[in-house]
Amino acid sequence: MNGKQDLRRRLPSVDRVLQTSQELVARWGHQRVSDAIRRELHRLRNAAEPATASDCTPTDVREAVAGRLQAMDAGGLRPVINLSGIVLHTNLGRACLPLAAADAARAAAIFPNNLEYDLKTGKRGNRDSHIEALICELTGCEAATVVNNNAAAVVLVLSTLARGMEVPVSRGELVEIGGSFRVPEVMESSGCRLVEVGATNRTHLKDYRAAISANTALLMKVHTSNYRLEGFTASVDEKTLAALAHEHGLPCMVDLGSGCLVDFNTLGLPGEPKASDYIDSGVDLITFSGDKLLGGPQSGIIAGKKALLQRICENPLKRALRVDSMTLAALAEVLKLYRHPETLTETLPTLRQLTRPVADIEAQANRLCAELARHLPAPFTAAVTPCHGRWRRP
Ligand SMILES: *Cc1c(COP(=O)(O)O)cnc(C)c1O
Repeated sequence: MNGKQDLRRRLPSVDRVLQTSQELVARWGHQRVSDAIRRELHRLRNAAEPATASDCTPTDVREAVAGRLQAMDAGGLRPVINLSGIVLHTNLGRACLPLAAADAARAAAIFPNNLEYDLKTGKRGNRDSHIEALICELTGCEAATVVNNNAAAVVLVLSTLARGMEVPVSRGELVEIGGSFRVPEVMESSGCRLVEVGATNRTHLKDYRAAISANTALLMKVHTSNYRLEGFTASVDEKTLAALAHEHGLPCMVDLGSGCLVDFNTLGLPGEPKASDYIDSGVDLITFSGDKLLGGPQSGIIAGKKALLQRICENPLKRALRVDSMTLAALAEVLKLYRHPETLTETLPTLRQLTRPVADIEAQANRLCAELARHLPAPFTAAVTPCHGRWRRP
């Protein structure tokens, strides 16, 4: 008798293992458990190393199956500790929501709600109604809508207003953001033709003027977010660009990237362009992310002129890019916090973390360092080093 036949005789049957597995069946269901037992027995039968007798009791097989079932369920999203020093880390989920926003999202998730129902008239409502007035109040715009993220916002604007037409953009603004958002590629996928304007370091008003033709749909400016041009540079500010667009009867849009709704200087942070400044300077449409500096859920906001927003919302793509009630509920709660800007650095986690005093960070680092060092195996050690944050408050 060879080893394999010998082993087969020693392996328990599926039924015998199942008899000792009531708890597993109660937790995972009969079908999943018996399938897992079958797979485990198959594995033992075909293992390169013949199983020893001690691997083969029904209890052993059941324990192995329990481990595998557990491991299969262990994947997926889970909380991690962000020690990267980067407050808004795309790989770690960007902005952390304030509790009020998370609670609102939870309520929207587990109860029916008035997502598209007008409780006053008893008629069908519009999901944007839950945030539009707030965005208008905070940015000074006439109308607004929300989609899945800022990339979707840009695609929706361009494919509504510029499909099959030309859009001049400065060569200094043809940037890539986070690897998957590249301005030229986003424009191409929106069906419009990019007309490159100026040079990488310098773009002048006359360059835009020369690029405008009968096929021009709009003028667009992109905030370079994670990239800076320094030295011999020139660009056209949004006010001048909007005026040029209007001279030709065209709209002007700006992709702001991060949605900043308060004066960062008053928070002790370096100046960041404020959404309302762009609206004030005559820009017709702005787009920005909900989960960057704004500190809310993943979303993209389009704000601007009413007539343009109406066309944008009538585009069938809007339906494909719309957000759910959980996102709307969370975003509304975050936006409400902006009505009280004096307390934002306490109430909004993103701004609380960005304005955290260096002394506070250092004190925590010192507290953790010794403890961490005690748990590290040689040759590793832990040390506190100075903060290198770009945004620093003593
Ligand atoms: C981040 C960013 C985007 C993409 O926004 P998402 O919300 O990540 O889709 C687009 N444009 C600019 C300028 C950005 O900074």
